[in-house]
Amino acid sequence: MKHLPFSKALLVAFWTAKYLSGMCCNEVAAQKKATAPQLPVKKVQNTVVVTPPKVEHFRLAKGKTIRIVLDPGHGGHDPGTLRSHKHFAHEKDIVLDITQLVAKYIEENLENIELIHTRQADNFVSLKERADLANSAEADFFISIHCNASPRSWVSGTQVHIHDHAFVHSLALAQSIDEEFRTRARRPSRGIFNTKDRRHSLYVLQYTTMPSVLIEVGFLSNKEEEKYLNGQYGKEIIASAIYRGLRNYLVATGVGVRFKTGSQAAKKQLREEKADSEKIRYRVQITASETRIPLTHYDFRKLKMPVHEHVFEGETFRYRYTAGGSFDDIKKATEVMREVRQKGFPDAYLIIDPQQRAQASKK
Ligand SMILES: [Zn+2]
Repeated sequence: MKHLPFSKALLVAFWTAKYLSGMCCNEVAAQKKATAPQLPVKKVQNTVVVTPPKVEHFRLAKGKTIRIVLDPGHGGHDPGTLRSHKHFAHEKDIVLDITQLVAKYIEENLENIELIHTRQADNFVSLKERADLANSAEADFFISIHCNASPRSWVSGTQVHIHDHAFVHSLALAQSIDEEFRTRARRPSRGIFNTKDRRHSLYVLQYTTMPSVLIEVGFLSNKEEEKYLNGQYGKEIIASAIYRGLRNYLVATGVGVRFKTGSQAAKKQLREEKADSEKIRYRVQITASETRIPLTHYDFRKLKMPVHEHVFEGETFRYRYTAGGSFDDIKKATEVMREVRQKGFPDAYLIIDPQQRAQASKK
């Protein structure tokens, strides 16, 4: 009885975090279990060894083969989120189908890519094995695909998870995929979440050393979305959004992703590639607020650079503030982000220019 209030508090904290992130039950459980033996501090012969915090190694160089790990979540005895009806599939099967479609689109359209699969059938692979595989292969990118679940059945939409907003390549890849979900795929997007937002880390994001994203393609706890994700049409839309987001990101990095030539599709891709590479512009978001903040605020003035207000209708944090203008060069945008962080906005991060987002969704 003595322990009841404490465990109750823990339970409340767990459900709060879960509600905020929308992360599926099994995923949280699996992550917690997997993380437990690997606490950041361990004692070795009376010396405390601190595991270094995750670093993001961007290994890509021009002309190099781009090595991508595709990671469909769960598998084997771990079904992930369970289906609500026997005519539907469990999370493990849906994400395997979507991942295989992503692989198909990559293989059909892109030349210098090497794909590594954590699983291609219904078998169990531990989270550690997934991260180890990516790290030992020195992969350039890690893309994990999951379905979400929430105790609130009306919650729907996509989420893209990264480890930290400070990892600019993970963030840029996440934004590029999220952009495709919002625009051409026309999915409700719940945005991009990092460890702070969801209040827990995700094993495969924390322990992989390359830019990595974990995509929640939708909520199986939402009747409509479950039906959508079980259908071939829904799977193709989601998979092609992931493929296009990845492709646009690779084009924007300028590392020289090559398109397969000859086919009509390839020609269309090339035209789109040009349009997309011209399209991506970045801003440095310094803060978001439910209420309007005057642009003459002392903290803004301290930056000694232009601050802009952007209104996101219908979102809780309706007012977003960016500093330094709009950049088509991610390196320049990153420099400004670092400067802004030192000048009193430590949580500043890059976003795709909201004006461009508005134009893209009108198309
Ligand atoms: Zn999952």
